[in-house]
Amino acid sequence: MRLRAYLLVCGLVIAMVAEGCAVSTNPVSGRRRLYGYSWAEERRIGQEADRQIVHQYGLYDDPELAAYVDSLGQVILAHSHLRRPNTPKAFRETPFVFRVLDSPVVNAFALPGGYVYVTRGLLAHLNNEAQLAVVLGHEIAHVAARHASQRAFELLLGQVALLGGAVLGQEVLGLPGGDVLQLGSIGAQLLFLKYSRDDERESDRLGVEYAVRAGYDAAEAAMFFRSLKRLSERRGASLPSFLSTHPDPGEREQTIRTLAMRWQQQVDTDARVNQAAYYARIEGIVLGEDPRQGYVADNAFYHPTLRFWFPVPVGYQVINQPSQVLLVEEKQQAVLVLTLAAQASAVEAAEDWAAQEGLTVLDQGRERVNGLPAVYVVAEGETSEGQTVRVLRYFIEHEGRIYSLAGYSPVDQYPRYQPVFLQVMRGFAPLQDPARLNVHPVWLIVRPAERTAPFRAFLSDLPEPFSPETVAIMNQVALETMISAGTLLKLPSR
Ligand SMILES: [Zn+2]
Repeated sequence: MRLRAYLLVCGLVIAMVAEGCAVSTNPVSGRRRLYGYSWAEERRIGQEADRQIVHQYGLYDDPELAAYVDSLGQVILAHSHLRRPNTPKAFRETPFVFRVLDSPVVNAFALPGGYVYVTRGLLAHLNNEAQLAVVLGHEIAHVAARHASQRAFELLLGQVALLGGAVLGQEVLGLPGGDVLQLGSIGAQLLFLKYSRDDERESDRLGVEYAVRAGYDAAEAAMFFRSLKRLSERRGASLPSFLSTHPDPGEREQTIRTLAMRWQQQVDTDARVNQAAYYARIEGIVLGEDPRQGYVADNAFYHPTLRFWFPVPVGYQVINQPSQVLLVEEKQQAVLVLTLAAQASAVEAAEDWAAQEGLTVLDQGRERVNGLPAVYVVAEGETSEGQTVRVLRYFIEHEGRIYSLAGYSPVDQYPRYQPVFLQVMRGFAPLQDPARLNVHPVWLIVRPAERTAPFRAFLSDLPEPFSPETVAIMNQVALETMISAGTLLKLPSR
């Protein structure tokens, strides 16, 4: 995996160097300056990175919700610098795509050229449409002000190696656990996380402006930024990358209020909040991890939708992503990767893989794994860092799909890990246990408070793993906040 990550980073870096710089316009300031990319290049890079992001996270399967977020995004966009009469045509005619990613992490980000993403985790943590309007406005502003492209220019000036190294260091093998899930693609890392604080301040300012012009009460967003801060303070909670380079959340909360007031005075709009309508949109959204997409229990990984399971060795961390499942050994000397192969049979998939240049096949053969037809290959290859890695790979046929399970280890460590690899690969089996198959996620329900009481009083029988504090954060209140009867509450329900 390190190999692929490295290539990915290099791909981006090479693209930057090869394309040189371009003098062009900033749609926000109207000024011309030097950018890392031309606008057309930004659009192309966005398109490419979009594919990676969708592949890595998966889109949240709710077409109505997706259409809602996209249509709100288009409304905010219509009030941005990218759609003004005196804006150059190339910007005005760039279509924008707003997507909802199937991730419980609370995050939003944008790619150059018109791609904006929010996660289902973010949507659950917002309290009304006005807050979503500001978040979308903030992301549109990153694209409009061409922050990624300015960064790219800085990269050209000599930070390539430095940043490349930093990003690589955070890649799969170098990271403890849950963080991997939040990183998004390398592309997103490069293009989102590295905005400067000034860029973030500019995006906050513009995001508030766009939301106010679109008729929303942008001051509402201040409460969301407060809850983001609480979220990031919780140990073990997903740190929104939102916060990594952003201004101090306290300062940000205040700034948002001030800016909103100023714009509200300048622009005569409705200052809509739209809570009930927003809650109706997000009711039923999945909260937390979705076990239907695979879960770990009792030292095994179960996939109820694809109906298979395999044992998880002690001390291995499982990272479940839409396109792959990783099992990473504690000392990161071994990694197992489960993916789907595109070929029609295990034999074909094994032959295609073994025929690759740079790979030396040491052994291969056929086997049956718990009744399933399988082909195994043992091979050696060199990573781009010059390390020789030995790989044991099983291709297993199950219900019309070809599963690939590959175990990687440095060649001198391999004898130690081979038995573990075999334990996992030969443990791959059809899943038939109804108790393991019939799982469902926690969903968000919306209920009016039946009486006036502290928020804490409404939290009986929370499903695992939700704590009172996490639900309070999701509702942007404290546990002791008095809730008046009739107030709408977002609650987890199984
Ligand atoms: Zn930002």
